[in-house]
Amino acid sequence: MLDCRDLSVFYGPHLALAGVSINIKPGEIVTILGANGAGKSTLLKTISGLIDHEEESKIFIDGRSISDWDPHQIVEAGLSMVPEGRDLFGELTVLENLMLGAYPRRARGEEEANLDHVMTLFPKLAERRKQIARTMSGGEQQMVAVGRAMMSAPSILMLDEPSLGLSPLLCSELFKALAEIRKSGVGILLVEQNVKQSLAISDRGYLLETGRITGEGTAEALANDQAVLRAYLGGTTRVKTRRLERLPTSDTLKCNIHDLIKRAEQRQSDHIMTMRSRTGDIQDR
Ligand code: ATP
Repeated sequence: MLDCRDLSVFYGPHLALAGVSINIKPGEIVTILGANGAGKSTLLKTISGLIDHEEESKIFIDGRSISDWDPHQIVEAGLSMVPEGRDLFGELTVLENLMLGAYPRRARGEEEANLDHVMTLFPKLAERRKQIARTMSGGEQQMVAVGRAMMSAPSILMLDEPSLGLSPLLCSELFKALAEIRKSGVGILLVEQNVKQSLAISDRGYLLETGRITGEGTAEALANDQAVLRAYLGGTTRVKTRRLERLPTSDTLKCNIHDLIKRAEQRQSDHIMTMRSRTGDIQDR
């Protein structure tokens, strides 16, 4: 179970999350509803350990406090995130991207079983295991991103707007897979613009407005709530078509951009070499 208590986050002087408390139980799908800029991505990144929170904020997984843990320790504790925009390694194959997800200790030794589970969830990936990720459609790439997260055998899976830019067909396939994942006892925290479809597969939901939880209830109650209908289903919310990149932090800006590109290329090619040597056996199956 994931239990977040009193999460507060500042970006400089800007209060992005103000005392947010939420929980997700095993085998439950919970949706966070909120307009653009409400703080949904900030919430997921904070839980993942990517953003620092205020000292009074507390995060627990299965009763263990992970409040000050690094992101890789949080993954080891059983929490995996599918970020908005997916963050796949475009030059790696589908299989290589999936195997990167199996890196945490908690998943080692279970790679083959987890891979089979992912291929059952997304049969398309089995046919495309050798395809270079950047050549896949948006929906297929999203499946790879969810599959990669599942390769770390999470107990809690968090997804940031997974249906963004997907065709209705791929969107239903994705939501069907999430419902399937839930059956295996994984708790799912979902941030979605596709309110109707996400509430349809969810058990509960929270409303997040300018960094504060302003409502919560069963998915059924939220889907029938007049205020929710007006705000999120009545066409009054802004629909996001394109997301601007966040500016890098000041530390990154100090780097020479050419050095940065060279280092990024080197990192990716090192990854490709390591992954190709590690996954050779499986690829040849
Ligand atoms: P969207 O649906 O547009 O992705 P969101 O609900 O996920 O929105 P966040 O991205 O969490 O919202 O942003 C919450 C607030 O914090 C916004 O006002 C945003 O401008 C601000 N914010 C987010 N990231 C940063 C950052 N790196 N630096 C400064 N402010 C930020």
